[in-house]
Formats: sequence, C-alpha cells, structure tokens
Amino acid sequence: MSDHSARSTARSTALFDQASAVTPGGVNSPVRAFRAVGGVPRFMASGDGCHITDVDGNTYLDLVCSWGPMLLGHAHPQVTAAVQAAVSRGTSYGTPTEAEVLLGEEIVARTPVDKVRLVSSGTEATMSALRLARGFTGRAKIIKFAGCYHGHVDALLAQAGSGVITLGIPGTPGVTEATTADTIVLPYNDQPAVTEAFAQYGDQIAAVITEASPGNMGVVPPQDNFNAFLAQTCRAHGALFISDEVMTGFRITRSGWYGVDGVEPDLMTFGKVMGGGFPAAAFGGRAEIMAHLAPEGSVYQAGTLSGNPVATTAGLTTLRLATDEVYAKLDETSATIQRMVATALDKEGVPHVIQAAGNLFSVFFVNSSDSSRPIRDFAGANAQVLPRFAAFFHAMLDAGVYLPPSAFEAWFVSAAIDDDALAELESALAPAAAAAAAV
Ligand code: PMP
Repeated sequence: MSDHSARSTARSTALFDQASAVTPGGVNSPVRAFRAVGGVPRFMASGDGCHITDVDGNTYLDLVCSWGPMLLGHAHPQVTAAVQAAVSRGTSYGTPTEAEVLLGEEIVARTPVDKVRLVSSGTEATMSALRLARGFTGRAKIIKFAGCYHGHVDALLAQAGSGVITLGIPGTPGVTEATTADTIVLPYNDQPAVTEAFAQYGDQIAAVITEASPGNMGVVPPQDNFNAFLAQTCRAHGALFISDEVMTGFRITRSGWYGVDGVEPDLMTFGKVMGGGFPAAAFGGRAEIMAHLAPEGSVYQAGTLSGNPVATTAGLTTLRLATDEVYAKLDETSATIQRMVATALDKEGVPHVIQAAGNLFSVFFVNSSDSSRPIRDFAGANAQVLPRFAAFFHAMLDAGVYLPPSAFEAWFVSAAIDDDALAELESALAPAAAAAAAV
C-alpha cells in the first residue's frame, strides 16, 4: 500500500542538491529530471512488485517501470535469485559465456531475426544497426521520422522525441551539420512524404529507421499499414527497413509490435525488457545482412561489456517468465487503467486523447477542439496543454502514483499490478483530474 502520510521530500531534496554539485542537472539521464513538470526528482531507494519507495519513505505505484524494462515488476524473486547466483560466480570475463547464447536464442525464437548481436544500450543498438545498413548497402542516407527517438546517436538526434522534446532542444548543439547531413527527417505516418524522398534520393538511401510503434512522442501508432508500406518502399529501392523495438520489443507481445502487425524488417533493435533491469540491448536481422558484421564481415562493432553474464541472466530469466499469460494480464491491466483515466478526466471535463499500442499507452492533454481527433504525428503531439499535464502529474505524485514526468512519454504497466494497486490508482485519479481541470 502507498504510504501517503509522510510526503516529505527532505532526503530527495538534499540528494538532489548533492547530485547537482557533481552531475549536470543532478540526473544521469535528462528524462529523470522534473524540468517539464517542476519540482525535485524523487530519489528511489527500493522497489517491490509494482511499487517503488523513495529515500524519504514515500511509496508510489510505479507506472514508469524504469521506462519499460520492469515488465514483471521490481525485485521479482526469480530474477533476483538468478542474478544473485550469476553475480556470485563472477561479473565479467571478456569472453563468451553461456547466458548470452541462451538470450540470443530466446530473441531469435521470439522475433523474425535470424541472428543477433548483443550490446549494452538501445543507443548502441540503433547506432550499430545504422552502421551495418550503411556498410551493407554502400549508401549513406537514412530516413527517420520526427518525434521518433532512437537513443542519443548523433545522426538520429534530429527532431527526436523523448527527453529531446521535453527539453525543447531542436536537435542538439554538439551534433555537427556534417553528421546529420545524411539524415532525412519526415513527418510520421506520412506516406506521400516517404514516396517523395525516395523519388528524389532513392539510390542513396541506406535505410529507413522507425520506432515499430512510436512511444517517444507519446504513443502514436502507425496508421494505414505504415510499416508494411515502409518495408515495401525500402525493398523496391534496395534500402533496408530498420524497426526499432527497443521500447516495444518483448513488452507489447512475446516479440513486440512485430507480434501485432507482422511486418518483417531487415534489421531490428531491442533493449529495455530484454535486460531485465540491467544494461543489455541487441540488434539483429537477416543472416545475409548480419554476416557483414565483424568478425565474420568487415563492418566493425564491439563492446567490453556486451553480453555481460549478469545482464544476460537477468534478461533471459525475465523473458522466460514472460509467458502468454503475462502478456494477456498486461493487456487487461492496461485497458483497465486507460478506462479509469478516461472516466476520471471525463468526469472533470478535461479534454484528452488516450492512444494505445498494445499495453503501451499515453494520455494527451489536448485542447477541447482536438479531443476527438487521433494524434498521428509529432505536430499533433506538440499541440498539448502542457501545464495541465504538470498539474495532473504532481497531484498523482502527491497521491502516491509515479507517472513519467513528461507529457511526451508512454505509461508502462507491469504484471505485478493487482486489484489493490488499481484501487490506489482509482483514488489518486479523482484529485489529479480535478487538478488538471483547474488549470
Ligand atoms: N530506441 C527507442 C525506441 C527508445 O525508446 C530508446 C530509449 N527510450 C532508445 C532507442 C535508446 O535506448 P537507451 O536509452 O538504452 O540508449
């Protein structure tokens, strides 16, 4: 149960001051800051199931789940036991180990990729997939979509989503024009724009990269078979279709968004859930393409801690526990939460749009004139009433529910959410909806 009695933030505030002295902005990843919503980020001390507890002893129902990885909830006993056993054997050797082979097999079994290479972050996965696509095709240009975030890869930090939107940085200083000169940014879900780009640059385009179902500008699913259209267009022009499933992979279904639309990419990227809360990610694809990767081929890619035995044990144990029943429960929990949020906001007359991609969803606080229109792209996501989200966020936090501290993020559910947790959510939603209505 959430303990709402304390609500002191004294320890978090002190730690934030300490952190700010040694780390820019006091956080090691910008999405953790409360810049968009105001206030002091809560420093967490522990997690248990669907709850996290901060250093002041406040407990929250967690709807961030470490931005996706904690599919089973925090400190799952079987994952914890497997990790403890792995750690006690040694933490890294810089040699191949068994767990990474088993994790690779699990990924290959769940997805359409023939082969995978393990890395340590989603950023590395997309960066390496791009290099491989360029090496394989001998072409330079890539297409990405505005509002899609693929990690902080230089070439992909043009009109990206996630923290880049939240902080309002257009691209970012430090990325040179030369680095993004081969990046073509198009509006999401815009088939004519893709057709036009290929008409102009078709024989120079190495790859189209897209989030399988975008979640970094809020959840904006592909419309009108957008992924199938992208795959076909790429094939027609000798370019590769890269589906970024770092967020959706092993979360939305056993495979990811692929389990929903079945469109076969040439390359895929994975992260988050497959690391079970540890740094592990991967990219994979058709054997013919993956054969170009060193040491088999000439496209170089490497990592000291790639396939780390502790991280791969956590990921493998998590995936083995993520059965069809777990995914069915996640879908049901997500649908229930979406209904509860809609009911609470409707009751207070707060205009909103809720969009879902499987169990991933987000709530857009739109103007009343936009509340019946789906959001199909970055421009639509940007038309939100941000102060309303901030008020809602803080009221939820005060009532013991931890949401992503940004209006441009997906909400993540875990299989640990039970009826008691849903009751906690229900009681938090009424004051939060009222707070949003008051803005
Ligand atoms: N791709 C997508 C779709 C993501 O959501 C993210 C992270 N939110 C990344 C890539 C980057 O992953 P990481 O933060 O592990 O580098």
